[in-house]
Amino acid sequence: MTSNPDFEAKLARYADLLVRTGVNLPQGGKVRVNAPVEAASLARLVARAAYRAGAADVRVVYGDASLDLSLYEDGSDEAVDFLPEWVAEQSERLVADGYAFISLTGEDPTLLAGVDQGRVARRSKAMAAAMRNVSRATGGMEVNWTVAAMSTPAWARAVYPDLPEAEAVARLWDDIFAVCRADLPDPGAAWEGHLDRLERLTALLNERRFAALHLRSELGTDLTVGLADGHIWQGGAETAKTGVRGVPNLPTDEVFTAPHRERVDGVAVASKPLSVRGQLVEGIRVRFEVGRAVEISAEKGEDTLRRLIETDEGAARLGEIALVPASAPVAQRGTLFLNTLLDENAASHIALGRCYPTNVQNGENPEALIAAGGNDSLIHVDWMIGTPGTDVDGVREDGMREALMRGGEWVVG
Ligand code: ZN
Ligand code: ZN
Repeated sequence: MTSNPDFEAKLARYADLLVRTGVNLPQGGKVRVNAPVEAASLARLVARAAYRAGAADVRVVYGDASLDLSLYEDGSDEAVDFLPEWVAEQSERLVADGYAFISLTGEDPTLLAGVDQGRVARRSKAMAAAMRNVSRATGGMEVNWTVAAMSTPAWARAVYPDLPEAEAVARLWDDIFAVCRADLPDPGAAWEGHLDRLERLTALLNERRFAALHLRSELGTDLTVGLADGHIWQGGAETAKTGVRGVPNLPTDEVFTAPHRERVDGVAVASKPLSVRGQLVEGIRVRFEVGRAVEISAEKGEDTLRRLIETDEGAARLGEIALVPASAPVAQRGTLFLNTLLDENAASHIALGRCYPTNVQNGENPEALIAAGGNDSLIHVDWMIGTPGTDVDGVREDGMREALMRGGEWVVG
């Protein structure tokens, strides 16, 4: 595969897309690349693309998910809970120094399936608490950041268990290139057109000032999601505080905003399995009352789902509502990628936990965020409820309705 010149050219174009469209690295900009060791070949191409774009500094840091497995299986309780302060401080310093972040994901989604979920939950909580300032800064777009996928053998095997490994890796690469429009002759130009469409939709939704959305699906979702006061719709490109316009997620087909944490009522039924903390949670059905999840069930992985929702008070409430058309490239592939970055573009979704401060006016002020109905939590976990039969209405303060989606497709914008 590595000797295939066509593949090498596509990979280089993809690396270039992450640097130019993803973080839109300016001349003299600095960038931190976080990558799993398996993604070294892509990380090197990203570094090269960044230097070609005029980067003043490129810092590549490799992670290794198998070290997490060692910790959970053989580490002491102290080790599971411990995270040195300098780890978060280093990231905070990079933000303060204006570094853009490119994070490559390609983890084995089943890696932690066999380990004690209580330990995983404790570690996740400790990590989220330690990285709280960094999450707030990146969530508030202090700097540009982008998350993108890398086909690794472990991930590809999980997505395509019936294929020989090399074929599975190649197939997953084809998927990634296709859904990121990186297989087109000029991916940058294709993204400009796509980002313009998303911008028209967010402009329209921001102009309407709906009080709530009402979603119904053939699977039984019948959910009213009240929106936060002064909510802001976002999607596609984001302009960071530095003035640079980039794309935080590659691919991205969603427009999203902040629900009001006390105004969500009805039933949400998942349309896809949820891959979380190394576990697959399937057949999720949650009933919300005055914003809170009051009935929770899943056909598989219910324990993991319950632990997640019990993380803290905000984990039982919503922090995101996102609309994605059934014609989005990820939805069209029809593959369950077992990775939120891709799977969240397969369907309209909601997220349990923290909202994005950028989805609420003056949301960077935590008090204003809470007063507007924004949600706070240590977690933010998306789950898919959209289907090709989903209808979405916007509901105004006076009860007037406007059709936004019919049969899973936009009927506005
Ligand atoms: Zn989302
Ligand atoms: Zn989300």
